[in-house]
Amino acid sequence: MKEALMRLSTRAVHGVHPQPSVTEPIAPPISVASVYAHPDLDVLEAVAAGRRPAWHYRRYGHPNGRLLEETVAALEGGEDALACASGQSASLVLFWSALAKGDHVVSAQEIYGGTYSLLDRQGPRLGIEVSFVPCEPEAIERALRPNTRAIFFETITNPLIRVPDAKRIIGIAKKAGAAVFVDNTFATPVLARPLLWGADVVLHSGTKFLGGHGDAMSGLLVGKREFVRRARKLAVSLGAAVSPFDAWLTLRGVRTLSLRVRRASANAHRLAAFLSRKVRVHYPGLPRDPSHQVAEDLLNGAYGAMLSFDLGGWAAAKRFVKACRLVRLVPSLGDVATTMTHPARCSHAYLTPEERRRVGVGEGLIRVSTGVEDIEDILEEFRRAL
Ligand code: PLP
Repeated sequence: MKEALMRLSTRAVHGVHPQPSVTEPIAPPISVASVYAHPDLDVLEAVAAGRRPAWHYRRYGHPNGRLLEETVAALEGGEDALACASGQSASLVLFWSALAKGDHVVSAQEIYGGTYSLLDRQGPRLGIEVSFVPCEPEAIERALRPNTRAIFFETITNPLIRVPDAKRIIGIAKKAGAAVFVDNTFATPVLARPLLWGADVVLHSGTKFLGGHGDAMSGLLVGKREFVRRARKLAVSLGAAVSPFDAWLTLRGVRTLSLRVRRASANAHRLAAFLSRKVRVHYPGLPRDPSHQVAEDLLNGAYGAMLSFDLGGWAAAKRFVKACRLVRLVPSLGDVATTMTHPARCSHAYLTPEERRRVGVGEGLIRVSTGVEDIEDILEEFRRAL
């Protein structure tokens, strides 16, 4: 029917279609469609069965998610990637798609509390056994069993900011025939690319440095094409897809990732050096830090934008947080602004007091994620707050 002949309500529903143009937008459009029209039944059948690649229904994938996937896969040096609604949904898709009943996982104990809780509380419900051990090659090797299918750790640990010897851990896993899953959220591909060291899957919370502006929520898995194909099938069943707007925001952040991570890392280094004259600081850039040598060997020319320090107890931590103005208390990291969190009451609140004690998360521990500000302003604030 000609548009000019449509009645008012029909015209309002069907709108007008955009004209093709020889020019193209330099920023990707946000595709909010949740469903796509198929020209006939043959196409619908072929697309639904996966024989013909085309957009179909948003839960199965959409243009903004795909752009993010292709970009992050390229940055990590992986064959393909899957974008999910959050880092947590990416973790769930990873463990559920890669492991089966009766499998055993060796996980570092110094990981994000949400991942710890997912493995510890939900793993057994799926019939998956998990051993949490210190993130050291010897401890991981000792925990291996005949049914160990995977080893999981973070390139920079949470919240004590250690850099494990990832290459040795990957070597141990390969010898044992176990897959290696690495959460690269803190390091980002700017500082570490675990797939190039032989890891099988890299996990990201895109909510953090990739997005970088405190407005997007997403998660990514990067790995071999076959792994991503299986993971995508599960993600479709679970309804774990990222939203187009969050994918768009994350991708927009990724464009300045390298600039932000380099600047924020330089700021973290200055802040860590300053704090180390007053309190106990965990930062691999400090020459006396236990991870300094490994970080120098593994990370790409900087030590990251994460540090933590111990004020000794709950009362001192409370006073410090209260005294800060610029540096806000948030349950996250990786923002353009410097932020802080209290791991015992936030990222690691999922753990029992005994579990927190085991991973070294005390009541006086503050974790800082430096931003891209002029660091002198942050130093002044911390000097006052201390
Ligand atoms: N991995 C790490 C290292 C994190 O810090 C977080 C969240 O803080 C996650 C994964 C989970 O990501 P999300 O909050 O996007 O679900």
